[in-house]
Amino acid sequence: MPSTSMPPAEPLLPGWYTLGDQPQLIGSRCAGCGSHYFPRLAAGCRNPDCTDSRLEDVPLSRSGQLWSFTTASYQPPAPYLAAEPFVPFALAAVELEQERMIVLGQVAAGMSVEQLRIGMAMELVLEPVPAENEPAGRLLWKWRPAGAAP
Ligand SMILES: [Zn+2]
Repeated sequence: MPSTSMPPAEPLLPGWYTLGDQPQLIGSRCAGCGSHYFPRLAAGCRNPDCTDSRLEDVPLSRSGQLWSFTTASYQPPAPYLAAEPFVPFALAAVELEQERMIVLGQVAAGMSVEQLRIGMAMELVLEPVPAENEPAGRLLWKWRPAGAAP
């Protein structure tokens, strides 16, 4: 675990991701067939060929390949958080490195779709909710091109 001198900020969505320098989304893994899910499932595997009901919480890959992206030009539903008043932002669909599942998320602040390319390496980062929004300072997951400056 990385050491920090300050207590970590509170997550916007507790239980959805780990905190720290190397954050990971928390998904569900079926103990029967091994399928992964995000967000976590409350009960029951969705695999129609699987009857197992044992789900465990597992940290998901924090890196992957950009599978698709778009500019969101309208207010997205929860849990996605957009600036108020609304300004368009980039949304990324990333195929997780290990699980090969697609996870949607906003693209890190300051990045536009012009900087994105299908297939590029992406990494999970946490960004605080901007000061002009509520609840300011809470951490939300975002996708950022791997190695891009914060
Ligand atoms: Zn299953």
